[in-house]
Amino acid sequence: MPTVLILGGTGEARRLAAVLPPVYRVISSLAGRVADPARPAGEVRIGGFGGPPGLASYLRAERVDVVVDATHPFAARMSANAALACRETGVPLLVLRRPGFAERPGDGWRHVPSLEAAAALLPGLAERVFLTTGRQGLAHFAHLGAQWFLVRCVDPPQPPVPPRLEVVLDRGPFTVEGETELMLRYDIGVLVTKDSGGSMTAAKLDAARALRIPVVVVDRPPVTPGVACVATVEAVVAHLQA
Ligand code: NAP
Repeated sequence: MPTVLILGGTGEARRLAAVLPPVYRVISSLAGRVADPARPAGEVRIGGFGGPPGLASYLRAERVDVVVDATHPFAARMSANAALACRETGVPLLVLRRPGFAERPGDGWRHVPSLEAAAALLPGLAERVFLTTGRQGLAHFAHLGAQWFLVRCVDPPQPPVPPRLEVVLDRGPFTVEGETELMLRYDIGVLVTKDSGGSMTAAKLDAARALRIPVVVVDRPPVTPGVACVATVEAVVAHLQA
């Protein structure tokens, strides 16, 4: 029975674990960041591997036949580690990367390469900010005393955080109605998002377009050159079967 290791932490990774036929032994790996993660079907392991050498040892010990990197598009370190460990061990690697958000007419998007660059742009844009980039990067905004932040994340953030903020603990999927109501209630002047893509969190972009709120979009890091990459769960299944 071939063993598939899914590097997870996304809805796609969970769906892949659920739809892979029982001819495979499926192990899903989670980083352990979220206190109460949605659990994928099949075997689950939680926690870091200990860098590329740790992952390489794991691949050998569990006799993994193929790795599917279905991590979030911004989990750049894990993806780089997977590329290194797979190259070292000769285990095939397939990246599942959903497409980014699509800009539409009426969108006022400002593309930036990093959270630091997003923070640098904010003082010229608006005072009241809806920050949806996750709790881990909040330190990049902690020096902005003149801005007020509505921060939405799954678990409570740890300092350093911006001095003026309100935290909403929530996880998608979100609706356009809900996002519109939230942005109006908090008198939001600018939205900050990663280019995560996917349908779970896209409603905020529709709401911002309708409300004519500018959006700062943090561009995603590139996939490791030379690594096979597909955009859908179905394409992963087809690739594995081929
Ligand atoms: P990261 O910066 O790329 O990875 C940091 C370290 O966390 C890795 O070196 C690895 O530790 C461990 N790690 C990450 N993903 C792992 C996985 N699936 N299984 C086992 N260990 C993992 O990762 P991140 O951006 O903090 O994201 C952590 C997790 O949250 C990922 O699984 C990702 O899919 C999910 N996520 C991330 C975001 C985001 O915006 N970054 C959003 C939603 C969900 P070792 O070096 O010790 O192996």
